[in-house]
Order: sequence, then C-alpha cells, then structure tokens
Amino acid sequence: MVQQLTTDYEVIVIGAGVAGIYQIKRLIDMGINATVLEGSDNLGGTWYNNRYPGARFDSESYTYGYSFSKEVLEEWHWKERFSSQPENLRYLNFVADKFNLRNHMQFNCKVKAAKFDEQNSIWQLKVSDGRTLSCRFVIMAIGLLSQPTLPKLEGMDDFKGTSFHTYYWPHEGIDLTGKKVGIIGTGATAIQIIPVIAEQAEELYVFQRRPNWSAPLNNSELSEAEMADIRTRYDEIFEACSESPGGFVHRPDRRSFYEVSREERLALWDKLYDEPGFGIWLSNFREIFMDEKANAEFSDYIADRIRQRVKDPVTAETLIPKDHGFGIQRVPLETNYFEAYNRDNVHLTDIQKEPLQRVTETGLRTTARDYDLDVIIYSTGFDAMTGAFDHIDIEGVGGAKLKDKWFEAPATFLGMMIHGFPNLLMPNGPQSGSASTNYPRGIESGVNWLMDLLEYMQDHGYTRAEASKAAEEEWTAEVVEMYKIMLMRKAKSWFTGYNSNVVGHEAGHVRHLVYNGGSPKYMARLQTVAATDYEGVDFEGEPTEPQAKPLQSTA
Ligand code: NAP
Repeated sequence: MVQQLTTDYEVIVIGAGVAGIYQIKRLIDMGINATVLEGSDNLGGTWYNNRYPGARFDSESYTYGYSFSKEVLEEWHWKERFSSQPENLRYLNFVADKFNLRNHMQFNCKVKAAKFDEQNSIWQLKVSDGRTLSCRFVIMAIGLLSQPTLPKLEGMDDFKGTSFHTYYWPHEGIDLTGKKVGIIGTGATAIQIIPVIAEQAEELYVFQRRPNWSAPLNNSELSEAEMADIRTRYDEIFEACSESPGGFVHRPDRRSFYEVSREERLALWDKLYDEPGFGIWLSNFREIFMDEKANAEFSDYIADRIRQRVKDPVTAETLIPKDHGFGIQRVPLETNYFEAYNRDNVHLTDIQKEPLQRVTETGLRTTARDYDLDVIIYSTGFDAMTGAFDHIDIEGVGGAKLKDKWFEAPATFLGMMIHGFPNLLMPNGPQSGSASTNYPRGIESGVNWLMDLLEYMQDHGYTRAEASKAAEEEWTAEVVEMYKIMLMRKAKSWFTGYNSNVVGHEAGHVRHLVYNGGSPKYMARLQTVAATDYEGVDFEGEPTEPQAKPLQSTA
C-alpha cells in the first residue's frame, strides 16, 4: 500500500467564477476537503471584473443560470431576457450564499505557481500571500477570457488623464459627463459600451482597427408572468440547450441554403434580425459557417442593414467588415450600436488608414492628428483561453512547463486533462466543449464529468490520473480537423488564438483553441469515455479498502 502524504487540501479549485462556484458546491456535497483560491477580493469572475456600462449576457438569462438546483430555479427572478452585469453578479452571490460556499473560498489569493511533486503525486501551489499549499488535485476554473491584453503603444504611462482596460473598469464607476473619451477596439465589449457612453461623454472617439459584424440583441424585460412560465419549462429549456450545437435555445435551420429560394432566405433573415439573441447566427443555414458563397450572400444582407441604420455612408462603409464574413468570428450582439454613430459627438477613426502612433500626455496621436482626451478606454480584448494558464508557472512531470508545451497551441484530452500534468483538471479548458457554446451549460457538464472521474478514482483506489499521450494527440487532431471545414479558420479572432498584443499569438498561425463539434457530440464523447472506464486516461494507485478512500479529507 502506497504511503500517502498529508496534504493541505484534497482538491484546490483556482477561480471563484461561474465554474469555480459550481465546482466547489459539488466537491463539498461529496464531502471532499476542498477550497477555492481566488485572486480578486470577491467571487464572480468575469461578472465581478467586467463592470463596464452596457455589460450584459447575450445568452438568454434563463439559459445562462445554473440548472443544478430546483430551489435556485424557483427562487431567482431574471428581470431581463439578457441580464446586465450588476444583476448577474447578484445572482452568483445569491447562489454562493444560499449554499454557504463563501466559507470555502479564499480571496486575494492569486496562484503564482503550481508544481507537481512526482514522487508523492501531489501539487504544491505558491500563493500571492506567501503560502505554499499542497493538494492532490488542482481544478483550473480560471476562465476563458480573464487575461486582459493592452496594445503596445509608446507613451502609455505618460497620459495624465484616466485610462484603463475594460476588464478593470473602476468598481466605483466613472462619471464621463462632459468628458472627452477615446476607446480603442470594436469587439463585443466595445460594442456594448459605445452606445451607452455615447450618451454621457461630451465627445467619444472610437479608434477602430477592424470592424466586427454585429446584429441586434433585441433585449426586453421579463415580467412575473413570463418568469412564471419559464419556471414551468426549465426542464424543457435545458433539454433544448443540450440538444443544440451551441448549447442555446437557438437551433440551426435544417434546410439547405441552396434548397430554398432567395425570397425564403430573406424571409428567414428578416425574421431572425428582429428576434432576441443569437438566432441570427445560430438559427441560420449551416452553410453560412462553411461555404464562402452562402456566407458572402448573408454578409451582404447584414451590410445592407448597417447601411440602413448609419446615416453617413462613409461611416457606414467603415463599419462594414471587408476582411471576413459574418459569423466566422464571435458575433457581438448590440443595442443601438450603429445608431450611436449618427450622433454628433461620436467620431469613428479607422486606424488602418490613420494608424495610432503613440499615447501622449494629453491623449492619442495618430499619423494624422492629436486627439485631446480626458479618458482612454482600452477595449482591446484578452489573451483567450491559454493566457490565464500562462500567467501561472505550471510545472508537471519531469519539470515540463505548461507554458512551453502550449506555446505553439494547446494540446489536451477533451479540453479537461493534459498529458504530463497528472491530476490537473479543467472543467472548461482550451479545446473543451464549453468554450464555443453557452458557457455555463458546458461548465455544468464539465464539472459533473470531473466529479464522476473523482468518484471513479475513489472507488478504484486510484490516486493519479493523467491523459495518455495517444489520447491527447487524437483529441487535438480531432479539434484541428474540425477547423478545416469551418470558415472560422480564416478569421483573426480569439477563436483562432489570434491576439496581436501577445508574442506568438499574432496572425498567420492558427491556435486551435475551441472544439467546434457542437454540444451534443461533445457530451456524447464525454459519456463514452466515462462508460469505457475512462479510456484515454492512465491511472495509478493501489486498490484500497472501501473505508480508506483516498479522496476523503487528508488535512
Ligand atoms: P475582442 O473581441 O478581442 O476585441 C478587441 C478589439 O480591440 C478588436 O476590435 C481589436 O481589433 C482591437 N485591438 C486589439 N488590440 C489592438 C491594438 N493593439 N490596436 C488597436 N486595436 C486593437 O475583445 P472583447 O471585445 O473584449 O471581447 C472578447 C470576447 O469576450 C468576446 O468575443 C466574447 O466572447 C466575450 N464577451 C462576451 C460578452 C457577453 O457575453 N455579452 C460581452 C463582451 C465580451 P482587431 O479586430 O483588428 O484585432
């Protein structure tokens, strides 16, 4: 019998966001000695940090919330179809408080390093408060978009006004009334911010490198009666999400683009444009994602919609993407975004034509002129999926660093386990099914799968689990293969691992970060792996007597 060392915790979860909250709930329910280490001073992850005006779901609220508790579903009233950040944060706090999860979370604890002790099969975590904590399993609930990135502009520290990345929007808020504001970036975040702050700022200068395709969110309030109806249909709603490729209530139109007439196509698009949510993207013809001709026809349709909404034809053309088609990057949903450019105080600068040169003490300088600004907002996105991992010095078997292993591109088994990094688990890692779908739906499945794995290990007396090299190679090849059929492979977007501000993540090299097979296929694969005694996972450990289960508290 292997002599097991005592560890501080059996499981350490890193991150107290949507994934970490559910993860710790399940661990506690299973009686496992576990804690959450969270770098911020409170829980909520993305909904704690992103406090910019206009921040809200673009998943239907009632499909975004957790499905695991009937009580929560009964008690929580979503006020809007696409709920806003303050409400979303309140929701996560409500769930955490209801199940006393805060007692199992440690805040202001940023994990700096994680090192696998091969001899004893335990992880040693170095925390920002100076402690080193040991555990058998580390669960990485660190988020997909939690590592913000800034442009590399000369003079950024010289600016005498206020500047920040959208992820660090001041918690106390900032009054932009009467201010000259510059915003760099026109991704999903900026598209939510711009129409809101256009109404506050004296002047708003938008510095756009590449425009994004975008369509209306069509948000509305949810009445008591609507929520009462939704509550009776939660099972049906979650079932529908599990059956749709994106994990949403929206399903692809099963007709072929080429089978129907142009009039029928237009009728579908007119309907979808006016409907709430991602239908315009996900209830469309499947050819839109794979076929250049179909994609071009639909992109032209959306371009015309932009031309109808933006009064100045030059501005309209500047807002229409020319380098990629609709839907092959992550589609931002908007509320009055295009109308914001009809205001006299909103000015669009195409920085491909007029490149940014530097930040000055008083604003931004392009090749054409100086812009005097009181506030600069960097809405320049994230080092998606692998960025948060790279910021922890993770060392596995033989001293191998995860950052080096993933430098070219991530390699995983199911987006949940990594060869060479035993007992390091990810409910929603790179290449998992949650990354490109309605996030919490994927998270719940990921967490449940990991809990089944831990239970299986407990039942069999295993102390160590690691993805086999072959399984990792096979899964990664499958992920790569799926990109080949998607037009997405051509886009400069975080779906292809692109970020011009991160060395090695620039254009020209696709990093296959997301699994594109859709939710049902991914879930079926998870089930098959579990049902075949976790084929693809190498276990180690000695069978133990049932009363000596290694997963019970060892602290
Ligand atoms: P993003 O989509 O990556 O957009 C970043 C923007 O900054 C792009 O317009 C980019 O231009 C520009 N940019 C980056 N570096 C620049 C530089 N050095 N100089 C000039 N421009 C630069 O980031 P995001 O808007 O924060 O959105 C990220 C993701 O977060 C979204 O795709 C979505 O998944 C998620 N999100 C979700 C919600 C929601 O659920 N409601 C809301 C917001 C965001 P290029 O396009 O030319 O690179």
